[in-house]
Amino acid sequence: MSGTPLECRMGCGACCIVISIAGPIPGMPNGKPAGLRCVNLTNDNLCTLFDLPQRPAVCSSLKPMKDMCGDSNEEAFTLLSVMEILTNPQNS
Ligand code: SF4
Ligand code: SF4
Repeated sequence: MSGTPLECRMGCGACCIVISIAGPIPGMPNGKPAGLRCVNLTNDNLCTLFDLPQRPAVCSSLKPMKDMCGDSNEEAFTLLSVMEILTNPQNS
């Protein structure tokens, strides 16, 4: 992923919903398929594990970037949906 580093827009949550996560997440031992809300995401789209050691490394290492997060939550959902389709081996 490339682009200008950003601060995460609190309350967006797009990457915690749209993308798939292959490894285990607390509460989701088999990971998370694309489009399914992570069980650790609150109703106002905040991560309950944010500062905790239980937060998966894949989540902590995902850096907000302009080409992923866009300028709005809606744009992030669109950008991430396109990326998920393009990077899913089932679609190649
Ligand atoms: S898509 Fe970007 S702005 Fe939205 S929650 Fe993820 S990192 Fe934050
Ligand atoms: S553990 Fe937290 S950061 Fe990771 S996908 Fe779930 S809500 Fe998002």
